[in-house]
Amino acid sequence: MQQLVLATRNAHKVTELRAILADAGITAELIGADAFPEVPDVKETGTTFAENALLKAHALASATGLPAIADDSGLCVDVMGGAPGIFSARWAGRHGDDQANLDLLLAQLNEIDDPHRAAHFACAAAFALPDGTERVVEGRLNGTLRRAASGSHGFGYDPILQPDGQSRTCSELTPDEKNAISHRGRAFRELAPVIAPLL
Ligand code: IMP
Repeated sequence: MQQLVLATRNAHKVTELRAILADAGITAELIGADAFPEVPDVKETGTTFAENALLKAHALASATGLPAIADDSGLCVDVMGGAPGIFSARWAGRHGDDQANLDLLLAQLNEIDDPHRAAHFACAAAFALPDGTERVVEGRLNGTLRRAASGSHGFGYDPILQPDGQSRTCSELTPDEKNAISHRGRAFRELAPVIAPLL
């Protein structure tokens, strides 16, 4: 069976992507980067989500000799000119401190009235072959930012982003409801038919 490596050590993401890619007709066996502990984590030196996703996919494809997919994502706030953007995971200084990131962002937006709190989640989904072939697509989830966190599902900025057309935040949606409309779901559902003929 064709194998496909996913550039993440997050088991939750592997499970989520397995479902999305299977639904899209990709039958390859999806393997998390955990299966290759000797491959070092890639430095995200790009200046866009697409560049960082491609960096990760190429690094894993050339290290393993297998086709690889990777994603890079974040929250972009209109009134902040698209920030935190690629800095979303370390906005408050420490990588992955979701609570501190969210608290800092809410404080920064304290004076901003509801009509000006538009934001979106963005995700670049990248694919690379060991020979250098690459594909990248982007998905987004538009919404507005609440003034306080609400809900218990998800991670990151989910408790404050209310998707357009919803009355709940991403953290108040079930995981299935979020996947159906999310930036990551959209990006990988679009990527799947693009990479199917290359596998
Ligand atoms: P990564 O691309 O998975 O490393 O995500 C980067 C950062 O963007 C995360 O640490 C979160 O802060 C934020 N982020 C990306 N996707 C989501 C999402 O679906 N919900 C909430 N926050 C997200």
